[in-house]
Amino acid sequence: MPRPPLLLQYHRISGRFHLSGDTVPPGLFRRHLAQLRAWGYRLATPEDWRLAKNGRFLPAVAYLTFDDGFECVYHLARPAMAKFGGVGAVFLPTAFLGRPNTWDASFGVRFRHLTPNQIRELHHHGWIVGSHGHTHRDLTRLPDPEVLEELQTSARILAQILGTPPDTLAYPFGHWHPRLFPLLRQAGFRLAFAGPRGLPQHPLALPRWGVYLPDLTLFAKIDPALRPLERLRLRSINAFATLSSWAMHRWPWLAWVSRMERPEP
Ligand SMILES: [Zn+2]
Repeated sequence: MPRPPLLLQYHRISGRFHLSGDTVPPGLFRRHLAQLRAWGYRLATPEDWRLAKNGRFLPAVAYLTFDDGFECVYHLARPAMAKFGGVGAVFLPTAFLGRPNTWDASFGVRFRHLTPNQIRELHHHGWIVGSHGHTHRDLTRLPDPEVLEELQTSARILAQILGTPPDTLAYPFGHWHPRLFPLLRQAGFRLAFAGPRGLPQHPLALPRWGVYLPDLTLFAKIDPALRPLERLRLRSINAFATLSSWAMHRWPWLAWVSRMERPEP
């Protein structure tokens, strides 16, 4: 089987039950890591990530990314991946550090975001810590000055925590547009991850394979024959996530129904 570089997009690792398909239980996550090894993949090391930032993604290497920066990345993903000799990348909406995910459609069950201390420790372990915008808004729907504000605010906060400015980003909802590229560069970003519909080889819109609760195996993301169908499935999941989050902002009573606070302005 050919082993092209594999870019995976996770959100949460948790055993808590709630109505969201983007949470993978810890046991399943460990099974994914074992599957990757069995298929001849190894997890990216800090050196692999350094090469990736220069545009070189290596075959037979799995690059695991975690959007939204929940505490489970520190408590579950980091130790599990360390056993397999690798590190991942985590992307944070910086307005919510150390706080619950009030911006998200999580239907009554909240998850806490990483604290500055946990972020610092991940960074020291060789993890990539990047931006996921400041307030997790869809950048493609904002005018240029607001995009720049989101990017620069989040970069400034991460620079204060890490002691070095971030150069990596994951687009909120995976949504990108070429219009955003110069703004990303202006804010100091040189590697940016999209959802399933990215531009292969383009450092500012790298496509990733999303991993969700029903993914008992990662095989569909690796087998060339299954990949087109998988891409279609991921697009529909992504569309639903975008729709529910958009609805939360549009109709605040939905947030109340799901017992959440409104996101801060
Ligand atoms: Zn997100």
